[in-house]
Amino acid sequence: MNLLKDPFISTTEGKVSLKDILTTDNDYQLQYFFDETQLAMLQMLASLTTVVLNPKIAELKGYLANGLTPEQYDQALDKIESNWFEDDCFMQSKPAMEVKKFTAQICNLVSGIESSGTGNASGLFSEMLNVDKICPDCFHVLNYNLHMNIKGDCFGSSGATGIRGGGSLATLISGGTLKATLLANTVAVDYFTEKTQPVRGIENRFMWDKPLTGDIYSASKIGLERGLFALAYHISFQAKAESCVCDLCGIESDKSVTHFDRIKYTGSYGSTKKGRDGGAGWWLHPYTPINMKDDGVYAVCARDQHWQSWQELSSFIVGKELEKTSFVQAPIVSQFSKLNISGQHNLLIGGNIANQASIVGRIYDLYSMPASLNKHVGRLSIVVEEGVEQKSKLSAAFKPLSSKTHVGYDKNFVGGIKEQAMQRFTANAQQIIQQILLDVDRKEAAQLRREAMLALNLEAKVIFKSVQSKYQHDLPLFKALVKGEHVLYKTKA
Ligand SMILES: [Zn+2]
Repeated sequence: MNLLKDPFISTTEGKVSLKDILTTDNDYQLQYFFDETQLAMLQMLASLTTVVLNPKIAELKGYLANGLTPEQYDQALDKIESNWFEDDCFMQSKPAMEVKKFTAQICNLVSGIESSGTGNASGLFSEMLNVDKICPDCFHVLNYNLHMNIKGDCFGSSGATGIRGGGSLATLISGGTLKATLLANTVAVDYFTEKTQPVRGIENRFMWDKPLTGDIYSASKIGLERGLFALAYHISFQAKAESCVCDLCGIESDKSVTHFDRIKYTGSYGSTKKGRDGGAGWWLHPYTPINMKDDGVYAVCARDQHWQSWQELSSFIVGKELEKTSFVQAPIVSQFSKLNISGQHNLLIGGNIANQASIVGRIYDLYSMPASLNKHVGRLSIVVEEGVEQKSKLSAAFKPLSSKTHVGYDKNFVGGIKEQAMQRFTANAQQIIQQILLDVDRKEAAQLRREAMLALNLEAKVIFKSVQSKYQHDLPLFKALVKGEHVLYKTKA
């Protein structure tokens, strides 16, 4: 099987090839049971498309507007060494000498299902048996996901961290069809070069062709294609001649994969402390928003399991400068602004919420974006601002409650009441904001702001009222809550 030629992609219409998706108007839907597999698949396919088309920004614009023909795909394929995408070598480097291998069940490759030996490792699924047999085609997306998203700590001391760091968020452009999505996330080589200003001696061969060497993996030496499929482990797997229904895609296969072997790389990328301190530098991954701080560059991660993506939505799209840090949107988003393509597109924000050695949650949120991002990005920001404003009002409404600690209430107890309410607001605001943004193209900024204000203020009031009614028989607390209430009813001067 070759990933650039053969049907290995699971869709609701069965397995199809990358060429089928890119060169027909059929509206294929990916079929993978877990949304992190889906998210990884979108990134892997768009990266494969980048390798095949290798487009300049003007060419990419043409593909987005007119599509591409099967002949164009074949011509592009003829220009590259497609043998590196055979299923027995793609993203599978081999160690130079005999070293100890770690063998693990296939479920270990699905983020969210963990069996690390560390005490605080927890999976999202209680049953590891949810994934115990997969088809050989699905192995590649899991392998890709391991290298791009999973924190080394999740495998304990035998784990390594990849080029983007562990648990970093990804932002992707989502178009009306799978084809439009893949093309919108294809990297224009001239745009990427302009962003990264490559140095001399850059290496662009894949790591399973020309492995990394040394203790520090210098970002400035890693070319686009090499980085898009950067490795952190030697991986191998065996497909057994036993038929199965794949636990990832649900399609029947005459072969199955139940285990894989891994050996970690010993050097470090700039995504780790060791690499950062050693001067490796950050490799600008096209799908990863970053945080530039005084002491180096970090991938943007979800902070904890109560974090909701709407709060940072504006900075995912336009970036944000704060005192000691600047938040830079993923290159694929700034490329999208530059492409200025017409038609409705959404922003997909996804990733794992990683906490030390465990994965405690996942993000997979879609937001409507204005058709002309350059002209109307402000509409989106004001909706988010309104959310932040109502959140701070709700917080202020709890202020008199905090002052009750001096009359004998436990600080943690009182703090907990507020924290729970704030978490509820942040979570519910997620859907409200997504809903309001559905109209981002049809309504003016002032109207969007007003709708956001009304809906979010109502939500804050409902949450506050429910806390009041819960403590109505606890007079000191109830009085404090009544005292704070007016903040939510104040209108802006
Ligand atoms: Zn499968």
